[in-house]
Amino acid sequence: MDAKREVQIERQIEKVKRQLAALGDLRPGSLSTQFNVCGSPGCRCKATPPEKHGPYYQVSFTRKGKGSSKFIRKEDLPAIRKQLKNYETMKILVDQWIDLATELSNLRITRNRP
Ligand SMILES: [Zn+2]
Repeated sequence: MDAKREVQIERQIEKVKRQLAALGDLRPGSLSTQFNVCGSPGCRCKATPPEKHGPYYQVSFTRKGKGSSKFIRKEDLPAIRKQLKNYETMKILVDQWIDLATELSNLRITRNRP
């Protein structure tokens, strides 16, 4: 019974690995859009109603506990969106792998018990 489940889990892990290998470029973070006001007196961004500058696109992310952000050119948005999506998919797949690996480990240490 457990041996059958082990084979099943092994197959699922192989599938997760294949999906990870096929992911392509990825990037952590979330995309936001901003409109800014500048310092020039009489600029359209201070008119009534204001016409603010932008949109500006920015990816915010945290790595090793440190938050940071990067401005993104409009023409790079499709690629960046795809990379952000790939990163989220990667995290879901790694989470699945961890759950499967833990279950597999539990089955094996139980089976090998004398
Ligand atoms: Zn302005």
